[in-house]
Amino acid sequence: MTGTPVRTHSEAFRQRALISVPGGVNSNVRLSAPPVFFARGAGARLWDVDDNEYIDYVLGQGPHFLGHANAAVNEAVSDACTRGMLFGGQNALEVQACELTLAALGWADMIRLGMTGTECVQAALRAARAATGRSAFVHFEGHYHGWLDNVLVHTAGQQSGVASAGQLSSHLADSHMLPWNDAEALAALLSASGDTIAAVIMEPMMVNAGGIEPLPGYLQRVRELCDQHGVVLIFDEVITGFRIALGGAAEKYGVTPDLATYGKAMAGGWPVAGLAGRRDLMEPFGTGVVNHSGTFNGSVMAAAAVVATQQLLQSDPPYERVETYGTELMAQLAKLAERYEIPLRVQGVPAAFHVSFGDPAPVRDLRSLDGLDLERYAGFATRLADHGLWLAQRGIWYVSAAHGEQELTDTVERVEAALAEQLP
Ligand code: PMP
Repeated sequence: MTGTPVRTHSEAFRQRALISVPGGVNSNVRLSAPPVFFARGAGARLWDVDDNEYIDYVLGQGPHFLGHANAAVNEAVSDACTRGMLFGGQNALEVQACELTLAALGWADMIRLGMTGTECVQAALRAARAATGRSAFVHFEGHYHGWLDNVLVHTAGQQSGVASAGQLSSHLADSHMLPWNDAEALAALLSASGDTIAAVIMEPMMVNAGGIEPLPGYLQRVRELCDQHGVVLIFDEVITGFRIALGGAAEKYGVTPDLATYGKAMAGGWPVAGLAGRRDLMEPFGTGVVNHSGTFNGSVMAAAAVVATQQLLQSDPPYERVETYGTELMAQLAKLAERYEIPLRVQGVPAAFHVSFGDPAPVRDLRSLDGLDLERYAGFATRLADHGLWLAQRGIWYVSAAHGEQELTDTVERVEAALAEQLP
């Protein structure tokens, strides 16, 4: 793509959408994205309604780990649903979907399927409260666990509070917000009030803000502290699950949670999420003591998508390829930054890394991200869209199994074209 792309049709759709859809979008996360309407996606590429082409590093906010429109997954789903979609009873594929997912995770005894990460987080908190008889939970600055009242938080500096009008501060009354990657902060809180705390929930790698890995020993120490105080440890693996390793962060960092939530990369782009965990914590869903429900949970489409995706991930694991691609891309971006003398910093793991402007020193939590120029990056990401790269404004780059040599060459060329045209 050279010059500013023509987006006449996107603009027409946007004008129409603004009349009938608040903000023209159906998820607030998309309010900050360039106003592009897409016509199709294949592999690692997207085409908008004006036929401009993009290499995609948003991947639908993560789900397209296998690339867009994976033929094996889509064929499995379309074939299965010709025989019905929802029965108000169980379907045969559900069992296989759950068994395959548990086999991929390795550590969990049981799993429930849902539709979104947001609701599986709520089920996890409910299970933890039911098991412990305690009401509070601990979460961490910069971690995202969905858009509902009890977990949606805006943090500025050291102050955290509600993030939306209509959300009451009382909704956050049962939670404690701590800086992440700081085991001593958690130790101090649990010493003081551990017997009131049901759960600690975290992104085991902080992908949503900063692409930050846990410090060596941090997750192990959190695990010990939770055990010591009888607190349920919940990993929110909605992003990391099936992406940073088949068994997610639990596998990569060698720490086993009590419960974990999954979504995104689990089902090749189909809307499926899951809550997995230890038998004693999961069984109360089965006795009806703890409620978890949903009309569409475990639908034929969901189950077929999970089965096909898990079969692909387990029979031909793409993890090494994704790692090689992401490592090379991170290195090439760093090289371009050096050549053009811009303070572009790249941090994270090859399958999910974060790009921003600022000091190259690694950041370890949300507070240290404050020193970075995230706004400058958001502007840069918008300009890169004009050069054929579809990127998240908040800095995350997701790599898929469908990104190959051509995408790498094209990506580096496109970033360089944007830099050569005008420094960000
Ligand atoms: N947890 C994490 C870590 C997430 O990144 C997200 C979504 N970005 C969610 C939960 C919520 O998932 P969903 O959007 O499917 O409700």
